[in-house]
Amino acid sequence: MAPAQPPASQAELVALTRDLQRHARLYYDEAAPELPDAEYDRRLQALAAAEAAHPDWALPDSPTRWVGQRATARPGRPEVRHEPRLYSLANAYSDEELGDFTRRVAEALAERVPVTAPALPDLFAPPAPSTEPVWSCELKLDGASVSLIYEHGELVLAATRGDGESGEEITAQARQVSNLPTRLALEPPPARLVVRGEVVLEHADFQALNARRAEAGERLFANPRNAAAGSLKLLDAAELRARGLKVFLYDLAVLEGTAAPATQSAQLDWLRRAGLPVFPHAARCAGLADVLAYCARWENDRAGLPLDTDGVVVKLDEIAPRAGLGWTAKAPRWAVARKFPAQAVQTVLRAVTWQVGRTGVVTPVAELEPVAVAGSVISRATLHNEDEIQRRGIRPGMRVWVEKGGDVIPKVTGPAEDPADFPEVQSPAECPECGHGLRREEGESALRCLNPGCPAVRQAALEHFVSRPALDLEGLGDRLVAELIRLGHLRDVSDVFHLRPDQLQECERMGEKSVANVMQSIEMGRTRPPSRLLFALGIRGVGARAARTLLRHAGSLQALAGLPADELQNLDGVGPVLAASVTRWFATPDNQELLKRLELGDLDLAREEPDRGPVAANGPFWGRTVVLTGTLASLERRAAQTLLEARGAKVSSSVSARTHFVVAGAEAGSKLEKARTLGVPVLDEAQFLALLQEGEADSAADADPERLNPAPSSQFEQETP
Ligand code: AMP
Ligand code: ZN
Repeated sequence: MAPAQPPASQAELVALTRDLQRHARLYYDEAAPELPDAEYDRRLQALAAAEAAHPDWALPDSPTRWVGQRATARPGRPEVRHEPRLYSLANAYSDEELGDFTRRVAEALAERVPVTAPALPDLFAPPAPSTEPVWSCELKLDGASVSLIYEHGELVLAATRGDGESGEEITAQARQVSNLPTRLALEPPPARLVVRGEVVLEHADFQALNARRAEAGERLFANPRNAAAGSLKLLDAAELRARGLKVFLYDLAVLEGTAAPATQSAQLDWLRRAGLPVFPHAARCAGLADVLAYCARWENDRAGLPLDTDGVVVKLDEIAPRAGLGWTAKAPRWAVARKFPAQAVQTVLRAVTWQVGRTGVVTPVAELEPVAVAGSVISRATLHNEDEIQRRGIRPGMRVWVEKGGDVIPKVTGPAEDPADFPEVQSPAECPECGHGLRREEGESALRCLNPGCPAVRQAALEHFVSRPALDLEGLGDRLVAELIRLGHLRDVSDVFHLRPDQLQECERMGEKSVANVMQSIEMGRTRPPSRLLFALGIRGVGARAARTLLRHAGSLQALAGLPADELQNLDGVGPVLAASVTRWFATPDNQELLKRLELGDLDLAREEPDRGPVAANGPFWGRTVVLTGTLASLERRAAQTLLEARGAKVSSSVSARTHFVVAGAEAGSKLEKARTLGVPVLDEAQFLALLQEGEADSAADADPERLNPAPSSQFEQETP
């Protein structure tokens, strides 16, 4: 079925939300649905897509949170009135908004403190105590909120949040939540305790649940939050138990019979002592700067958590002044949720285009309906290769999932609707740039343009040659390179070292000063380490790191040209494929010609590699302890270890509190679990590859998502044949 058009404005979104709420009521409460299920789902998906793209438009009572209840909802479930009522939270979508919030609270608190001004300034008095309040920061768990009542230590009642005033009674369900004690661990127990928290499903349990449902031909849950909320309606205790729900408590609403803790942090400690589950990582922050640091840290590290968090909840730590600050109709004035930017969103894949890279590889690029994700708007993303597209069922015209982490090139991860409704991607028969035939080599997934004079290949090769990680010829930008190619001054990379000032002057906007600057950076290019020149040549498989390894061994480019493949293949991280590629390159007459022309351009091929010591101390893995687990699709365990060690990491075989990262491939087992229980950050394969690229001492220019040059992503693959 064709996708429903997602709402394009907040007004449309609100209208659609209300429309769906009406239909849900007809379905649940009146058992008189007007819409077929499929149409309801179609509209619900459109709403979910718009909410994902504009999290700030989403209404708190959106029916997207009800998915999963439809099949199991039971009319007439008893209602429970909440005392005190439950509130939602106000949101802050930026550090500025968060700062506004903390300032507002600080000012309101300052007004309430009676200040008696001294008649004369007392110059010797100690400075007034800082009025910056202390904040309690907690991760905002993305699940279903619940309220629990314990009387004399026994769990007697559980309820969903509902509309905050009253919710549905779910005591039997709460008893099946795996980590919730039905009796408090306090002796004597308090007479009465009302606590609030979040019922969640961890990623592993969510995936297992969906796998079981897929096998049984049942509808899949869209995300762990929906699955958790839906599960709370289940009547089948065994099934509920099997799902592995957990709860984490964060609010002590009523405590009778004992003195109540005076701060949020003390509340959390109290809850822990009572034997109730409290999510780890909460922190007391003395002022806004600390709060911002906490938020920044968890925006980064949340990928390593075993469950979904969608932000940080910042609460005034002290309980007593909260009442004075009060509540809006919806939320407390003394707390706010700093929402993380969306990391995965849906958008429409308008088309698949093909881009020719410097080695002639023709890569598919996703042309997307522009969408905001992880703080930036993207309209293009890499699709890797043809096989990947087929395997994932990605087809033009459909809604797709797009993901972007802080440092990762955006990628299309998969379809958001049924591929059967859309035409397959047509791969090109000829080069989109020069019309020359394309070839797909045996055992390779990449298509290649075989025309050595392909303008796209020439342009891409030259862009790479002058780029920052290569020879770093400042001033020779892509536009200038294109123009020089057009004027016939650059036919291959060696021509760079034969450029004359008068040729540069022919180009647009090239005054005397600019020409002199370019000539000077070309001069600088002659002095770069030979490994940079080797990398710049764009030999298949030779990335920046391999180039350094080769030249640290050979000494000079000239010496390298004379080394046999079986000597090179034993070098750390080189291997037979790369070694063969290098020797083949030096044995090719055209390339020997190229080297001669470079020499004529005043490049000294006998120059020694200056830094033949160990790798520089930098990059994300430097000095870190890393554990590898599971199978990585793109490289062998041994290769991953070599790459990590080359970046200054220690690769260990067991996870402990001292482990900095766990890299988890497919079918990761107990090590992954251990990492999760210890809170050690976990990297999936994509994140790992991205960080490895970052670890290349000087490959910062690679990760330019705007340009989306296919070279960077393929560079890594080439390095580890
Ligand atoms: P929302 O309704 O999504 O706007 O945000 C409010 C909800 O966040 C609450 O009702 C809770 O269910 C949930 N939440 C998750 N973690 C926390 C936390 N640590 N403190 C307060 N609320 C939380
Ligand atoms: Zn071509």
